[in-house]
Amino acid sequence: MVRDLIAAGAAAVALAGAADPALQRFEAVEPHMGTLVRITVYTPDAQSASQAFRAAFDRIRSLDAILSDYRPDSELSQITSVAVGRAVHVSDDLFTVLRASQELAEATGGAFDVTQGPVIRLWREARQTKRVPESAALAEASGRSGYRQLHLDVVNRTAAFDTPGMALDVGAIGKGYAASEALEVLSARGIRSALVAVSGDLAFSDAPPGQRGWRVQVHSEEGPTVRLPSVLELTNAAVSTSGSSEQHLDVDGRRYSHIIDPASGMGLVKDITVTVIAPHGLEADGLDTAISVLGAERGLALIESRPGVAALIIQRSSAETTMLASSRFRQLAAQHGATHAQGVLR
Ligand code: AMP
Ligand code: MG
Repeated sequence: MVRDLIAAGAAAVALAGAADPALQRFEAVEPHMGTLVRITVYTPDAQSASQAFRAAFDRIRSLDAILSDYRPDSELSQITSVAVGRAVHVSDDLFTVLRASQELAEATGGAFDVTQGPVIRLWREARQTKRVPESAALAEASGRSGYRQLHLDVVNRTAAFDTPGMALDVGAIGKGYAASEALEVLSARGIRSALVAVSGDLAFSDAPPGQRGWRVQVHSEEGPTVRLPSVLELTNAAVSTSGSSEQHLDVDGRRYSHIIDPASGMGLVKDITVTVIAPHGLEADGLDTAISVLGAERGLALIESRPGVAALIIQRSSAETTMLASSRFRQLAAQHGATHAQGVLR
């Protein structure tokens, strides 16, 4: 899995290992978006690295101020009350995220749906109270949810909502967007080799000097039936991983995921982990959650319809673990699979 285990609070530190003597490796970690963000850059000196870190972290901080569903003052939180029954202009960032979300909602028949905020909140509370939400409460929340109740105007860049009490939650797509946007800030400063990890959402540019790519662990399965390399060496891409059991509620022997199926309002009960590789984090992060809801078969069909996107789907039951790779994933594994797994990003 693509998980980030780096500790918080690290300042910019030069690390050994860069092949090009003109470039050194620097790394910094800061807390943002309710998680840790780790940035790695190759620059000629510490000063340019520090300035780049500041600019990239500031971009993520400003995105959080727009996209957070925890903050009542975020644009995302405000828009659902000010734009009921009337079109209101939204910022470029919010519009970009909402537009990609609505396209994915259409493509998945609503399996991916950022307007499920009211339902997602009930499940968040349920993880605190350790009780499955009441069906009446779920039905009421579902009535205030649904992507068909959100209308975007691409020309005027406005949003309008049909029903009072709606709530957006872009937790399934915002971190991937932020990772790629922060990487863009680094690229604009002339940094060609960098990696941004917003928790498990990675975005990276050219390979570190002297290396074939950024080493990304894409699964941790073992055994004779596993034929895919666990580490890929990749460049200029985004990688996101979504796990249905990552945050969960256990009640009466059932494990309910933090990912909900909008068709039923229920937390997923299947154990599925999806890793998506795409050109931009907006796509990779949205798709990993969408596939988790759709399941392996429909999820793979969605991936195969998008050239340049790859997915690995791992489904576990008490009897067996199945691993399904899209054709692009198998291609990448054949071309970029690493022979040994040292120094991986986890
Ligand atoms: P991820 O880790 O990328 O799969 O995102 C999980 C988060 O997405 C959850 O914590 C919710 O905030 C949100 N979410 C849950 N279910 C859905 C869904 N069906 N469509 C869109 N977002 C969802
Ligand atoms: Mg996601």
